[in-house]
Amino acid sequence: MELSELWQATLGEIEVEISPPNFHTWFKHTTLKEVNGDTARVAVPSDFIKEKMVNEYRRVVTSVLHKHADHITGVDFVVQTIAPPALQPIVSGPVVSINNTSNTNGRLKSDYTFDNFVVGQSNRFAFAACKNVAENPGKLHNPLYIYGGVGLGKTHLISAIGNHILRNAPKLKISYVSCEDFTNEFIQSLQLKTVDSFKHKYRNVDVFLVDDIQFLARKEGTQEEFFHTFNALHQSNRQIVMTADRMPKAISDLEERLSSRFGMGMVTDIQTPNTETRQAIILAKCAERGITLDGDIVDYVANHVKSNIRELEGALNRIIGYCQLNRLETTLDNAVKALESFVDQNQMKVEPERVVEAICRFFGVSREDLMGKKRSKELVYPRHIAMYLLRNEVNMSYPQIGNLLGDRDHTTIMHGFGVINRGISQSDTLQTEITHLKELITSPNF
Ligand code: ADP
Ligand code: MG
Repeated sequence: MELSELWQATLGEIEVEISPPNFHTWFKHTTLKEVNGDTARVAVPSDFIKEKMVNEYRRVVTSVLHKHADHITGVDFVVQTIAPPALQPIVSGPVVSINNTSNTNGRLKSDYTFDNFVVGQSNRFAFAACKNVAENPGKLHNPLYIYGGVGLGKTHLISAIGNHILRNAPKLKISYVSCEDFTNEFIQSLQLKTVDSFKHKYRNVDVFLVDDIQFLARKEGTQEEFFHTFNALHQSNRQIVMTADRMPKAISDLEERLSSRFGMGMVTDIQTPNTETRQAIILAKCAERGITLDGDIVDYVANHVKSNIRELEGALNRIIGYCQLNRLETTLDNAVKALESFVDQNQMKVEPERVVEAICRFFGVSREDLMGKKRSKELVYPRHIAMYLLRNEVNMSYPQIGNLLGDRDHTTIMHGFGVINRGISQSDTLQTEITHLKELITSPNF
C-alpha cells in the first residue's frame, strides 16, 4: 500500500473514533511521511499539534496503523510547517485600498504583542494557536476561537495576532473590532443607509479579528449580518479570529448556525494563571517598568491577587503608586498596606445565600427540597452543583457546606463536589450550567 493510501485509510478510521471537531482540528493537515522499519513518521503542521498528538492521539494512531500494516508498532511525529505564505492580499477595490493602519482604525493596541505575553500552563495552548494563526493566516485554524474569563489576556492575544501580521505581512488587510463596535457600526449604517459600504468593508479583509463576540447575543439583526460576513470570509480562506468569555454553545440567544460555525475550526480556552505564572507575570511587568521588587513582595502579590492578570497589574500599580506618593521604600510591609483595601475588594465575598437562591431559581426547585432529604434526580443534581459552587465560589469548608445544606455529613459534600468537579470536563451541558450560575451569583442585578 502506498503511504498516502495507508494514511487515508488510517484517517478514515480515526475520524469515526474521535469527535468531528477534534478530528478536524488535529488531523486536517497531517501526512504520513515514511515508514522506517517498525516506526511510522507522521508530519504535522505545528509544535502545538505535535504535542497534542504525542500526548493524546499516539495510541489510536499507532493501533489503527498497525491494523493496516502489522509491522508498524510505533509512531513518531515531526513538524513540517506549511509553506508558502498563507494569503495573497485581496486585489484592491475602491474601499479596499485603505492601508493597514487606517483599516484597523487605530483600534489595535500596538503594545499587545507575543513578545510581551507571558506564557504559562493556563494560556500555553491559546498562545500557540494564536502564534500559528499569525504565522499562517487562513491556513491552519479557521476560525480560531479563544475563550476565557475577564482579564486573562484574550484581547492581548488577538491583538498580538494583528500586530504580528501588520509587521510581517503588511500587505494583508486586517480588521480588528470589538463585537460592540461592529454592532454599533452596523446599526449606524442602517440609519445612514450605508449598509453596502459596511458590508463591503468587512467582507473584504484578509484577517478579521473580533473581540468579545459574546456581545452578539440577542442582537438578531447583527447576527444575520455577521453570519454573512463570516461565510464570505471563511469561504475564501480569510482568517477569522474571535474571542469570547465562554464557549460558543454557552452564548445564550446566539443562533445555532453561528455557534456551530464558531466551533468549526480551533476552539481553545485561557484559564486563570497558576501561582508560578502569576509570579512570572509580575516579574515581567516590573521589568517592563524598569523596577525591581523583592521576592517576598512578588510572592505576596501572587498569593493574594489570584483572579486575573488585569487585577495583578492593578495591584502592582497600586504598590508602586502608594510607595512613590508617600515616599516610602517598597518593602513588604508597605506593599501589604498599599494592597489592604485592594485585596479585600478583589476577594469580594459571594454570600452563600446567593448561591442557594441562584440554584433554586435556575433549576426551579424549592429551598426546602434542596435542603431536604428527598433523593430524586431532579434534586440530587442541583444539590451537587450547590456543593460545588459553595466550595469553589464561596470558599466554604465541607463541614460548613454540610451545615448549610440541611445538616449533611462532610463526606457527602466531598462526594457531591467530586461528582461535579469530574463531570465538568466531560459534559458541555454541565460546564454551561456552571458558567451561567457563576454569572448569576456575581451579577449585580441578581
Ligand atoms: P481580556 O481581554 O481577557 O479581558 P486582556 O487581554 O485585556 O484580558 O488582559 C488584561 C491585562 O493583562 C492586559 O494589560 C494584558 O496585557 C495583561 N495580560 C494578560 N495576560 C498576560 C500575559 N500572559 N502576559 C502578560 N500580560 C498579560
Ligand atoms: Mg478583552
